Amino acid sequence: MKHLFYRIQFLLILIACACTYSLPAFAWGQEGHRIIAKIAYDNLTKRARKQVDNILGERGMIYWANWADEIKSDNIYPQSISDGWHYQDFQGGLSDSIVADALVHYPKEGGMLLCMLDSLELEVAGDRVMRTNAEHLLRFFIHLNGDRYCPMHMAHMDDKGGNAVKMKWFGRDTNLHAVWDSKLIESQGYSYTEYAQMIQDIYHAQKREIEKMTDEELLLETYHLTESIYRYQESWDGNTYHYIYTWHEFMERQLYIAGIRLAQLLNSIY
Ligand SMILES: [Zn+2]
Repeated sequence: MKHLFYRIQFLLILIACACTYSLPAFAWGQEGHRIIAKIAYDNLTKRARKQVDNILGERGMIYWANWADEIKSDNIYPQSISDGWHYQDFQGGLSDSIVADALVHYPKEGGMLLCMLDSLELEVAGDRVMRTNAEHLLRFFIHLNGDRYCPMHMAHMDDKGGNAVKMKWFGRDTNLHAVWDSKLIESQGYSYTEYAQMIQDIYHAQKREIEKMTDEELLLETYHLTESIYRYQESWDGNTYHYIYTWHEFMERQLYIAGIRLAQLLNSIY
């Protein structure tokens, strides 16, 4: 009966947060999602790792970390695009209490990321009992838990999560969303394995502190970071080197948080 309970709950949550907001936003680029999945995999318990390997098969967690973006060109799970599963945008300048309230009362506009993560967590936990669709659910769970810590996936609705904020990156046209999805990460020139290792070496000392943070604290930290990025944008002189110099450490910490939090969730589920 347990699986039936989870399934009903999942449906109810989907209905409760049904939302019509849509925009073509991608997430952390491929490298970002691989870095997050690698950090998470490195921090799984033996037991959780075995369960994840069993469900995802021989390709494993890092391989499937980008699947939820890749299927945007297919017609499976079209609601993942039309309903905005990959982001939860807000208005700018909100008070902490209004932002934090999004964890309890899912916003009616701006995407469905927070709502989806809660329902997927129930589903993934429920699929310990029933295996139908377990693989797809886990692939979504891994990917969307990465998106949650991408600042431009918790950005402003008015500019479509930074997609409408035009900017130049080393002289080439791009936008704020794309810079945070991939350009900032790529600017460092590491492979995903190198970068995942380096980030863990740098931030390992913060692991316990991050694990103790509440969902609310993490959500607010990302929102405040996003607001700082927008403020910087207003006075930015267009120097790409200065942009990278200013923000790459913040980006790395977000990747680390995403990986550690994902591991923590999977360890508690399995
Ligand atoms: Zn995504």
